[in-house]
Amino acid sequence: MYTVLVICCHPDDMEDSCAGTLLKCKERGDRVVVCYLCSGSMGHEVIMPEELIKIRAAEAAESSAIGGFEVMWGGFHDLDIYADNKEARDKVVDVIRSVNPDFIITNSPDDYMPDHNATSRLVFDACFSATVPHYQTSVPSVAKLTPIYYMDTTGNMGFVPTEYVDITPYIDKKLDMIRCHKSQVEWLKDHDNIDFPEISRINSAYRGIQCGVEYAEAFRQCMVYLKGTTKRYLP
Ligand SMILES: [Zn+2]
Repeated sequence: MYTVLVICCHPDDMEDSCAGTLLKCKERGDRVVVCYLCSGSMGHEVIMPEELIKIRAAEAAESSAIGGFEVMWGGFHDLDIYADNKEARDKVVDVIRSVNPDFIITNSPDDYMPDHNATSRLVFDACFSATVPHYQTSVPSVAKLTPIYYMDTTGNMGFVPTEYVDITPYIDKKLDMIRCHKSQVEWLKDHDNIDFPEISRINSAYRGIQCGVEYAEAFRQCMVYLKGTTKRYLP
């Protein structure tokens, strides 16, 4: 039906904020492609970056396989992704051009850490550049004009949704996907003192209360010139 491209910062961002929605997209027949821009290289107290990159790639592959999602990598490392950078923007242009999605989901522009915010800005900027025929990058094709949906912030902080997706039938699978990121369940226990799957369940329940269902995920459409829509793309 549609091609959905999720461009998120870290392996586990998609799982935390929009996995239920993507499972629902898959069920209605969409193609779902997930591009993790960063490798997740810094997300552990003990495991060194080089080893962690491999572990996190395996965790992401295991998680995405549950949903039947295709996986791509942006090639950035943690705390080494900057929005105001032509090389970085062109990498994201290439991702968008190679997938040519009907709509894009990405991190919120006002999240809690710089890599998430840089990802959001890069996607916004690249989304326009990808449609310009004479803007040359390594992928020769041109993407269509594409609406962008921002996924919820980490911990649902400061985010005012404009659309909700009922994910009640998908909550168990979503939490299974989060549990695939074992290194992050450990890291978030050590660094943030939280139970990651349980917090994600609570956040989905909180969004559910707001729209009258048991579990939901929340989104905000990026409303600028050429990004409006006449129909709902989210399932
Ligand atoms: Zn993240």
